[in-house]
Amino acid sequence: IVIGMIAGIILGGIFQAMLPKDGDLLIPLYLFDFSVRGFFVDGIFEIGGKIFVSSLQMLVVPLVFVSLICGTCSLNDTSKLGRIGGRAVGLYLMTTAIAISIAILAALLVAPGEGVNMTADVTYGAKEAPSLAQVIIDMFPSNPFDAFVQGNMLQIIVFALLFGLSVALAGPAGERVAKLFEDFNEVIMRLVVILMNLAPYGVFCLMTTLFAEIEMSTIINLLAYFLLVLGVLIIHALVTYPVILKAVTGLNPIIFLKKMRTTALFAFSTASSNATIPSTMNTTTKKLGVDNSIASFTVPLGATINMDGTAIMQGVATVFIAQVFNIDLSVGDFLMVIVTATLASVGTAGVPGVGLIMLAMVLAQVGLPVEGIGLIIGVDRLLDMVRTAVNITGDSMVTVIVGKSEGQFDEEVFNSVDDTSRDR
Ligand code: ASP
Repeated sequence: IVIGMIAGIILGGIFQAMLPKDGDLLIPLYLFDFSVRGFFVDGIFEIGGKIFVSSLQMLVVPLVFVSLICGTCSLNDTSKLGRIGGRAVGLYLMTTAIAISIAILAALLVAPGEGVNMTADVTYGAKEAPSLAQVIIDMFPSNPFDAFVQGNMLQIIVFALLFGLSVALAGPAGERVAKLFEDFNEVIMRLVVILMNLAPYGVFCLMTTLFAEIEMSTIINLLAYFLLVLGVLIIHALVTYPVILKAVTGLNPIIFLKKMRTTALFAFSTASSNATIPSTMNTTTKKLGVDNSIASFTVPLGATINMDGTAIMQGVATVFIAQVFNIDLSVGDFLMVIVTATLASVGTAGVPGVGLIMLAMVLAQVGLPVEGIGLIIGVDRLLDMVRTAVNITGDSMVTVIVGKSEGQFDEEVFNSVDDTSRDR
């Protein structure tokens, strides 16, 4: 996967460098390049990358539904469910609030938007932030099949939990259904493994098309903003998470980070926590030693409601846009940013670019011009990839903490040598 990623970045960079720049006089010479580019970048690699992401996404709904039912009926103590849910949600909200607070503080200290004179060239419509009541109401599906079709993760989770509970309570009929779902689970996990084997090629295709599009000049224009978001993301992943993990569980955070590598690469190349769910489940259960009864619940929940990396981008972006437009934000405004960003992340699925939609809600909430998003949109894709890797690292850390606190955790597996064959 690493080789696929690096090769893709290099090849994409070459395609990018071959594009004609303003002022080039030799346009006819580029016609050849364009046809080569069309064949590879917009042809083969785009097709390969899209098929890879679609096949990962294809697994998400059946995987979450089936493994969550297996997880719930094997818990056999229904009161546990509320406790696990409470802990997971509490930890997810807490880590997101920490992430966004660090981001706001860092942005206030570094002031990346000061002295920047830019005009926003893209108009961006804001949606309203959902109310807490709406977020809760929307969690309950009126039609589970509609939830499957839409891929609405929270509704699928609620339905699977209720279904799993009934399986556990339904006596002999429940036992038969449980057996059937366990078999389904085996089969779907097998499919996950098959698709993971394709990952190096998929990642290569994705990276080539992405890096063929990314213009370095946009990044250089926004270097202060770009580096600051990147820096805070790295600090959160390499300092905040290890500190929390060590303090709460006493486990070795280096082992944790090392075992997260493959999944982080998946997240990086797909920029989607949702599409990464199969890999996150694989890593948390097979490499980090968390029992499926916990991971099948906390991983998809986290992919939907926990987006620490996204919150970091939003914190820095809010301060940046306020500085560029010379608008002073009060402490109350910052608290509003923290609350809105956390709430908005609960109701939005982990797919590429969703962070910007949520940012529009946050900006509107504190009265900042939503067109400000036009300033940062050019560098967002690359940051999206990095923040998605942070998002899923947060999901996995919370999964380990909840698993350990519930005694559904195998420390031997956690401490075992990182065996990449378990990725397959
Ligand atoms: N792409 C991110 C994710 O899937 C969300 C975002 O920040 O846009 O987790």
